[in-house]
Amino acid sequence: MTTSAHIDRLPRETYATLRPYVPLMTPVEVELSENTNQWGAPPAAVEALKACDASALFNYPSQPISPLIEELARYTGTNDTSTIVLGCGSDDILDCSMRAFAEPGDKLAYSDPTFSMSAYFGRTNGLTPVGVPILPDWNIDVDGLLATKARIIYLCSPNNPTGTPIPEASVRRILDESEGIVIVDEAYAEFANSSWAARAPNEERLVVFRTMSKAFGLGGLRIGYGVGRPELIEEINKASGPFKVNSIAERVATATIKNGLPWVKDRVKDAQAARTALRESLIAMGLSPLPSEANYVMLPVPNALAVAAHIRNNGIAVRAFSGLAVIGDALRITVGPEHMMKRLLDALKPALEATRNA
Ligand SMILES: *Cc1c(COP(=O)(O)O)cnc(C)c1O
Repeated sequence: MTTSAHIDRLPRETYATLRPYVPLMTPVEVELSENTNQWGAPPAAVEALKACDASALFNYPSQPISPLIEELARYTGTNDTSTIVLGCGSDDILDCSMRAFAEPGDKLAYSDPTFSMSAYFGRTNGLTPVGVPILPDWNIDVDGLLATKARIIYLCSPNNPTGTPIPEASVRRILDESEGIVIVDEAYAEFANSSWAARAPNEERLVVFRTMSKAFGLGGLRIGYGVGRPELIEEINKASGPFKVNSIAERVATATIKNGLPWVKDRVKDAQAARTALRESLIAMGLSPLPSEANYVMLPVPNALAVAAHIRNNGIAVRAFSGLAVIGDALRITVGPEHMMKRLLDALKPALEATRNA
């Protein structure tokens, strides 16, 4: 047995300043902090899970091409199974892409603020993350991103946490003028007006990330996927290794796309209507929410951490950000059914008043 004197030399040195992502999981009555589907899980998924044959669990999941990949190729419009790679959530696809398309020491550029896991997985894979602040109109700084000459450029559209979409022309310029891989994370594409997924296989260096955790209401199932031309998808598969998606998740997700799409589309419409209503209510309170094409709204407010803590004492969770580039302090509020939005709005006003001079 070795002595514990050497334990501090065992982890990777570059991990010393990394902090694990720990979601704030203390239960609340109204969960508006994670952008999950607050209308619930699709009935088609619940049915499919009940119908799963547990005695078949001794088998590995289906390989190499699962029925889920066939459904996703149809759903995204690529109609080609070799353009899709499955992951244990799209976080897994993000992680795999960082080591598939760059060597340790290479730069990963991202527009700041954006989804924090991009820089996180960049670092765990030895890359150097470089944040490029958004412009005052909240759009990405195309010239700034190009100037990094990064090996990977990560974009998120609609962007988490701002909710704003990236104009197609901006992505087009990055694709045309950059030299490395371009990732467009479309975790919220179902709520938005445009997507690159169907066109991704025609682009030389584009990979689009999608997930079933948000619009599909299946965050607990852990299904994400990447879309791109087969040569790029093959590289992500190499970085992934086999069997990242378990056979139960595969069955339930397949059934949901086969039988649950009308439900998902109706809930997307509900979320879009709730988004419009929430923004109107906030504007009526004299506040200035950002435009959104996602299932959440970003609301700049002073002392956001204190405001969120106040709201949480009323049983409602929202996500608070402090000192974001260009935006400063802000709350990110997931939209949900009317009763949830009413509780949020009822709690927000006193929280803003109580923290005004904090
Ligand atoms: C929620 C989210 C994801 C994570 O999705 P999983 O598929 O649950 O891992 C990825 N990207 C963005 C921008 C997200 O907001």
